[in-house]
Amino acid sequence: MASVIVVGAGVFGASVADRLAGAGWDVTLVDRDEPGHARAESGGESRLMRFSHGPKHWYARSAWRARELWLELDPRLVVEAGVVWFARREGGWEDESERVLREEGIPVERLDLDQAARLYPSLGTSDLAFVLHEPAAGILRARDATRALVQRARERGARLELGEAKPDGSAVSVNGRRLEADRVVWACGAWLGRLFPELVRLRVTQQDLFFFGAPSGWATPPVPGFVDYDGAAYGLGALDGHGVKVAPDVEGRPFDPDTRERAPAAENERLARELVARRFPALKHAPISSTAVCQYSLTADTEFIAAPHPQHPGVWLLGGGSGHGFKHGPALAERILAWMTEDEGPEPRFGLGPREPDRSLRTAGAGGVTATPGAGAG
Ligand SMILES: Cc1cc2nc3c(=O)[nH]c(=O)nc-3n(C[C@H](O)[C@H](O)[C@H](O)COP(=O)(O)OP(=O)(O)OC[C@H]3O[C@@H](n4cnc5c(N)ncnc54)[C@H](O)[C@@H]3O)c2cc1C
Repeated sequence: MASVIVVGAGVFGASVADRLAGAGWDVTLVDRDEPGHARAESGGESRLMRFSHGPKHWYARSAWRARELWLELDPRLVVEAGVVWFARREGGWEDESERVLREEGIPVERLDLDQAARLYPSLGTSDLAFVLHEPAAGILRARDATRALVQRARERGARLELGEAKPDGSAVSVNGRRLEADRVVWACGAWLGRLFPELVRLRVTQQDLFFFGAPSGWATPPVPGFVDYDGAAYGLGALDGHGVKVAPDVEGRPFDPDTRERAPAAENERLARELVARRFPALKHAPISSTAVCQYSLTADTEFIAAPHPQHPGVWLLGGGSGHGFKHGPALAERILAWMTEDEGPEPRFGLGPREPDRSLRTAGAGGVTATPGAGAG
């Protein structure tokens, strides 16, 4: 039986552990904290699951396959409320996404502004050209989904070890104990750059979320999730009573997930209030009922990292979620298994080495308080 040590029980590592345990591998999953913990990028209540990725077919296909795998894991993890894209112009990201989704046979519809207005109790549309609706998209219950993957991995025979891991050649040192296996996967989110500074270049940024108290009528479902690509913002309605979620998606200041306080930036609160007033005018005076702070681990081109270590071919590095990785977890793990067993060649787009900045796969994102390369926890 082949063996693997997976370090990191965030959505990427947990997905790999689950997939390999399901394929009969002997799996040891290591994390220094309980799965779903608050400092992990996979923590928190919710993540959007959408298929639109502009012109990139690979990601559209991956997200669509992942939807099937999430539903198979547990349909209660998926809130099928749909996701809409607020398109500010013709010929932009949303048009490219629509073309790709139609080519891939993934459900999508173009709504005029009157149709879009019926999806929300109140919607400001004066700055919009049209709205793209993905009816099969929705929201994933993030923390629960991460824990469900770990739980199924354990039911499939994986062992979970709590401890701080360090690379030791092609092996892993956990709390001073040396562990060896046929393969090792380092899926350490924002910490990956620290563990492999010569190979991995990530910008780790602070990202703030705001939840607005809203009257009934704003619950998700049925209120869909939303993304404003050019306006660098996304959110959803009130899920499980958490309030309407609004996230300014400009790239935040450098962030160390171990030492920085999780207090949102005043500038982001201003952006969130502005966004609510413009897009959901009935909520203009709604109070902020809670906030959350999370970190992005960003590659230069926002494509993921999934590649073998150049000196230790049995060791794989996995990460660079870049603010949009969650939904892909189980589908990415399926590909990793194929790449590790050489059923398929690895995807060059996920390789190590220099990357050219490219249009973001998340939202246009950059325009805000940009982070310094190499800073933060990277
Ligand atoms: C605010 C926010 C909103 C987002 N919105 C979306 C969205 O709407 N849709 C979407 O698809 N994606 C979204 N994302 C992105 C998505 O959440 C991430 O891409 C994904 O969670 C990355 O998971 P990961 O497993 O790489 O990292 P993590 O979840 O951080 O997991 C890494 C794990 O490694 C462990 N670890 C690190 N170092 C060590 C060590 N030395 N020894 C032992 N354990 C170690 C950590 O404890 C941690 O548990 C969002 C992210 C944020 C922050």
